[in-house]
Amino acid sequence: LDDLIAEGLITATGVAGLYGRSGRFEAIVDGLRRRISALPVAAQAEVFHFPPLMSRAVFEDNGYMSSFPHLAGVVATFAGDEREHRALCEDLASGVDWLCRCCSADVVLTPAACYPVYPLVASRGPVPLEGASFDIESFCFRREPSTDPFRLQSFRQKEFVFVGAPEQATARRAAWMAQARDLAADLGLRFSVEPASDAFFGKGGRIAAGRQHEEELKLELLVSIPGRDQPVACMSFNLHQDKFALACGLSGLKGATVHSACAGFGLERLAMALLAMHGADPKAWPAEARRLVG
Ligand code: 5GP
Ligand code: ZN
Repeated sequence: LDDLIAEGLITATGVAGLYGRSGRFEAIVDGLRRRISALPVAAQAEVFHFPPLMSRAVFEDNGYMSSFPHLAGVVATFAGDEREHRALCEDLASGVDWLCRCCSADVVLTPAACYPVYPLVASRGPVPLEGASFDIESFCFRREPSTDPFRLQSFRQKEFVFVGAPEQATARRAAWMAQARDLAADLGLRFSVEPASDAFFGKGGRIAAGRQHEEELKLELLVSIPGRDQPVACMSFNLHQDKFALACGLSGLKGATVHSACAGFGLERLAMALLAMHGADPKAWPAEARRLVG
């Protein structure tokens, strides 16, 4: 973290896991974004960039508060009258918690880039035979304050998303993974791909995490970072089975079963992994990494 700040790549905001990105850092992110979108497997995908906020109703329907209440961030706004406003200002002046004078809005912070895609597909009617493919990006929020620069509260995920027949979803994940592995190798990263599980909450969460791991529903591309004991997950390849399809009322022609899958690329993590691997000055990077990132 100190090195990234000293090199002028990111800047502190006073909040752990929340940083400003410099032009030089963003140039790397930009190059990665373009290179990932240029993978052959993204050729027919519809492109969308979503805002860092999403519909609270969709967030609730997808069960986020059951699985990850500890990571969620919701938006609270003030909707009171002048009397209530005076009380709020008094609370503020005397250092009393004033948030109880606000109420929740109809938006929440997006926890994973693909959440807004499923209702979009549902709004178009039955999923076509060839399925639906997306290449998307969003700022994501997860309440995980940390001084580890690889763990941010606010970061960008670029994702490929597929909605279609179960066997198509499985095949698409395999294709994403093969091409993403080649890209990571060409970028000069050292990595392995391993089964993983999400950070589900509580005792019940352990069962969900065990099942996810056992059935290899989540695979992560773990990058070795010089000077660190533990590798860092920079990409994930996920099969959701019918979870989001059921939550968002998705079905195929004549009611055919629909599954979804996504591949998530952590743009800041990948940029930081490249900086850790090849050095703070991209001009001194290996030629192939420099070419790929542009
Ligand atoms: P997933 O949705 O599988 O947890 O995350 C997908 C990708 O987003 C991860 O492989 C990683 O690259 C990125 N990501 C997840 N959590 C964080 C985080 O706390 N900080 C950063 N910078 N990236 C993250
Ligand atoms: Zn996703």
